[in-house]
Amino acid sequence: MTSAVPTSPRWVDFHCHLDLYRDHQDLIRECDAEKIVTLGVTTTPKAFARNVEMAMGYPYTLVGLGLHPQLVAERADELPIFEKLLSRARYVGEIGLDAGPRYYSSFQEQRRVFERILRACDEHGGKILSIHSVRAVSKVLKELDLHLRNKTCVPVLHWFTGTKSEATRAIELGCYFSLNVEMVRSEKMHALLRALPIDRLLTETDGPFVTFDERPARPTDIPSTVALLAKLRGIDSTRLADQITSNLASMLSPTPGASINRQLRLFKTT
Ligand SMILES: [Zn+2]
Repeated sequence: MTSAVPTSPRWVDFHCHLDLYRDHQDLIRECDAEKIVTLGVTTTPKAFARNVEMAMGYPYTLVGLGLHPQLVAERADELPIFEKLLSRARYVGEIGLDAGPRYYSSFQEQRRVFERILRACDEHGGKILSIHSVRAVSKVLKELDLHLRNKTCVPVLHWFTGTKSEATRAIELGCYFSLNVEMVRSEKMHALLRALPIDRLLTETDGPFVTFDERPARPTDIPSTVALLAKLRGIDSTRLADQITSNLASMLSPTPGASINRQLRLFKTT
């Protein structure tokens, strides 16, 4: 297997649970064929090694080291594994907080775990984080502010559902937003989706949890999401697609003008 350098990424799926699909390896191949830079997030640290192995030799698939807030109640004891693997991971996710009724009983534990993860990321530096914030946007932002002190990590808010003022706060904290088709379908999100700064936008599927044409969304559905978003913002969809890949490049490197190919080579899975 070769580890070719991506020539020209066309699309970005910055939050997809690749390992929850039965045809995990086929998805990875599709991402390469269609030039979709895809972040495969994981829900437990134990899943990381296998995901890295599956993505090896496929430059378009990146792997996140995660500990999902909805699993903290059963998996908090995997935190030492997370901390041990962190030096191998450039990407971290899915992490975050979930204050929805089903997970509220573990909320204090979630906060403890999230704080430990953020502190560890800050200490290592240079991590890119994909963050869940269901019913907990302001708390998530507060934790980011408190614990990402060195400002070398980049938080990406996945499926952001906060208010306009929370979005403003997130932008001040340097966050990016990964947007999915379910957000575009929700009319009450439209004003916010139009207002977010174009240079902080990324796209995601959050598959297989989000569906597309009544089947789990796949990274190859990203072009449709970009087209819908472009329509909503009244801009050309090719321009938006280019903007999103260039946002990815700037997010991966604060060096202006650094090419995305070089960045992807540098920031491949580990
Ligand atoms: Zn997710």
